[in-house]
Amino acid sequence: DQNKFQAIISHCKEYGFIFQSSEIYDGLSAVYDYGQYGAELKKNVRDYWWKSMTQMHENIVGIDSAIFMHPTIWKASGHVDNFSDPMIDNKDSKKRYRVDHLIEGYADTLPEAEKTALIQQMEELLKGNDYPGLKKLIEDNKIKCAVSGTVNWTDVREFNLMFSTQMGSVAEDANEIYLRPETAQGIFVNFLNVQKTGRMKIPFGIAQVGKAFRNEIVARQFVFRMREFEQMEMQFFIRPGTEDEWYAYWKEERMKWHKSLGLDPARLQYHDHAKLAFYAKAAVDIEYEFPIGFKEVEGIHSRTDHDLKQHQQYSGKKMQYFDTEINQNYIPYVIETSIGLDRCCLMVLSEAYEEQDLGTPEKPDSRVVLKFPAKLAPIKLAVFPLTKKDGLPELAKELMADCKKSFYCYYEEKDSIGKRYRRQDAIGTPFCVTIDHQTKEDGTVTVRYRDSMEQERIPLASVKEMVMKKILE
Ligand code: ATP
Repeated sequence: DQNKFQAIISHCKEYGFIFQSSEIYDGLSAVYDYGQYGAELKKNVRDYWWKSMTQMHENIVGIDSAIFMHPTIWKASGHVDNFSDPMIDNKDSKKRYRVDHLIEGYADTLPEAEKTALIQQMEELLKGNDYPGLKKLIEDNKIKCAVSGTVNWTDVREFNLMFSTQMGSVAEDANEIYLRPETAQGIFVNFLNVQKTGRMKIPFGIAQVGKAFRNEIVARQFVFRMREFEQMEMQFFIRPGTEDEWYAYWKEERMKWHKSLGLDPARLQYHDHAKLAFYAKAAVDIEYEFPIGFKEVEGIHSRTDHDLKQHQQYSGKKMQYFDTEINQNYIPYVIETSIGLDRCCLMVLSEAYEEQDLGTPEKPDSRVVLKFPAKLAPIKLAVFPLTKKDGLPELAKELMADCKKSFYCYYEEKDSIGKRYRRQDAIGTPFCVTIDHQTKEDGTVTVRYRDSMEQERIPLASVKEMVMKKILE
């Protein structure tokens, strides 16, 4: 549903969640800035992931490695030689497409059976790196360029997705370095540092959140595919031979995490990879049904000892672990979980976004509400004095002062209470509290719940605890 997707994008802009980067200069393609509420939402998702991974797992620790890394790392990881996508250019429009996206886009317009057959053919060809075959598939199906409507294609070629820059003075010894295209390598190269200093025993994990950069060619899907984005990755180091059970464990554990975000389980699914890297034992994606269809949010990969072995070879440093339980030295195997923070925010926004018709034939009315789980909502509590006099603002500010030490609150005294509710609905604030004259008499306030729009009176003294409890749910 493209309309819903567009509505979410507009809403994100109108309410201070996400802006196009460099907007006053007409924007920078596939780069975005998070506004006041988007930054809070993103921080809450990041913190929730971080806590679930590190605080909730005694054998997982977090690190924060640099974006710039020694260039040989990207040789060892295979990114210099292999981090590329097969692309094709349309000769008339000069537009470049990722071959799989082009074919998938076309397949979406076909009846289900034909679509499946075409995708299967494509996956076979991709698996065999059969570029002439892919070109032929595009030509045989008369797949058109979306811009020029023509079918005039170049050959299929590979383009590396890494951004590069020069470190130090360019004139001297020009040293090309890359902006990391994933955070994982910072974990691999610190494997021994963390294992030794943290006295970590296998099985154990290292988690990290940070920026990654990819020169994506097709980048027209809002924060789903960006050129600068944030990843949340975790590498779990295990004894060789235990990879199947740990893979199964993390596959399930990560799905549970997604469900704990309050997502409808019917909108989540696994997608097994048809095409595996030569070293990989298994790989699966967790997909979410965005308004634009089921798409990958997270990957879980069983990577054997490939990455550490590569770094051992390229660095000449031993990447071994001595397992005291079995008295053996080995290079650990790795299960990796890798999720995009921005994609995750888009998923949470898509799930939360709702347009509701609340009107009657006599009195039309509607609202847009973001039904975030309380723990992810940018603002947890809005505090409204009913009027600007009679000591009500003072009481409201006392409540603010008490609550804002513990969670993000918002104070507002302008406009009718109804209007104030609607503004909070649009940014997803789960609770609004109104202080009125009765508060002065009996110490109660009206709390209004975002989703049900129901209101009830509760003691002023219990507001903070009520919100705290919901945030931890
Ligand atoms: P895709 O097939 O969508 O390009 P990928 O398989 O290349 O993704 P990975 O390399 O496995 O992705 O990266 C792990 C996660 O990082 C992805 O599941 C996704 O959530 C996120 N991610 C990857 N590329 C981007 C991007 N360009 N913009 C936003 N998030 C991204």
